[in-house]
Amino acid sequence: MPHHSDSHASTATPLAVYFDNAATTPLDPEVLDAMLPFMLEHFGNPSSIHGHGRKVRAAIENARKTIAHLINAAPAEISFTSGGTESDNYAAFGSVRTLGLRHAVTSKLEHHAVLHTLQALEKTGDITLSYLRHDAQGQLDLAHLDELLAANDRSFVSLMHANNEIGNLNDIVAIGDICERHKAIFHTDTVQTMGHYQHDVQKLKTHFLVGSAHKFHGPKGIGFLYRRPEVQVSPLIHGGSQERNVRAGTENVYGIVGLAKALEIACRDMAAHRQHIQALKERFISRLTTEIEDVRFNGLSATTDQSLYTVLSVSLPPSALNEMLLFNLDISRVSVSGGSACSSGADAGSHVLTALGCDPQRGAIRFSMSKYNTAPEVDYAVEQLAKMYRKVPA
Ligand code: PLP
Repeated sequence: MPHHSDSHASTATPLAVYFDNAATTPLDPEVLDAMLPFMLEHFGNPSSIHGHGRKVRAAIENARKTIAHLINAAPAEISFTSGGTESDNYAAFGSVRTLGLRHAVTSKLEHHAVLHTLQALEKTGDITLSYLRHDAQGQLDLAHLDELLAANDRSFVSLMHANNEIGNLNDIVAIGDICERHKAIFHTDTVQTMGHYQHDVQKLKTHFLVGSAHKFHGPKGIGFLYRRPEVQVSPLIHGGSQERNVRAGTENVYGIVGLAKALEIACRDMAAHRQHIQALKERFISRLTTEIEDVRFNGLSATTDQSLYTVLSVSLPPSALNEMLLFNLDISRVSVSGGSACSSGADAGSHVLTALGCDPQRGAIRFSMSKYNTAPEVDYAVEQLAKMYRKVPA
């Protein structure tokens, strides 16, 4: 399997290891190959009616068909956006404004693309916002969802498929059933699962689904929103009739082509990549548990079936080293994300770990893996951590 690291554990040069794939993934060269002609030869504006324009329009509509086919939707149900954040905004603003919904439900574990969007709608008085209860591992209380939906008029519900920090997978089938019973509009942020898990909108009761190409080896700044035809969304961006009047502006053509190619590859090779990445995650868990003092895993991160196979959220013992944790790993050329629970309101730590009530004294890092990572990279990263937190033999 090809990988993007520049050397190997057996050589003298230290590895440059990238374990931050939940933040973004490297572009697949096959995706770049598909995009290049649309940067050079096929440069027409897709809204132009001449040959140059028509060629490019056809590529956009083919990309739409490809994506629709991969999630079992109709092409007209797919709109291209600049990525996950914009798609989440469309779903929330669109539903609240066009359907006149006055109440929304989310959880404090959502990505800011959802949380801040709903909080903005709350601030303007468009909605009241309820937060779903969850336990210390981040498992949502679905009985509470039932109560909240019963107590309010038709609601907008936004609950993610998988959490980007701790990896918890939510049961979007069960959530969809509850929403359907109460005629709520259900949006699920699938940014972390699109391209990593199969999605079939005919089997889900979600009104919206989102995808962001850079999370599955596609280009940055391009994504899509799936929308059930019975839910209209009003434009956030005005000025042209592109995307059936939903999103004005000349389309990001090579981005769209790259997005479709990246999703096609991700779905084509999903089983093999899943097996490869799951094995890396298990290696991480086993080696960290053996070598690191009092290591723990946040949320349901260490489970196999209730957590993203791409994400491992590690909790390290209280130590003066925690302040320098990410810095020290970076010096060792290991790129990861971190952020402990906040110890005060002014602290810009992780809102997710804070909501879980994690101990702010403990260190937190997220390893997120891709098809390009290797077992020697896992070993190298664990060794770097073990230099700081090695288990003292009893
Ligand atoms: N939602 C989730 C769960 C994410 O992990 C991210 C990316 O970090 C986003 C939304 C935002 O996506 P984008 O970077 O495409 O705007």
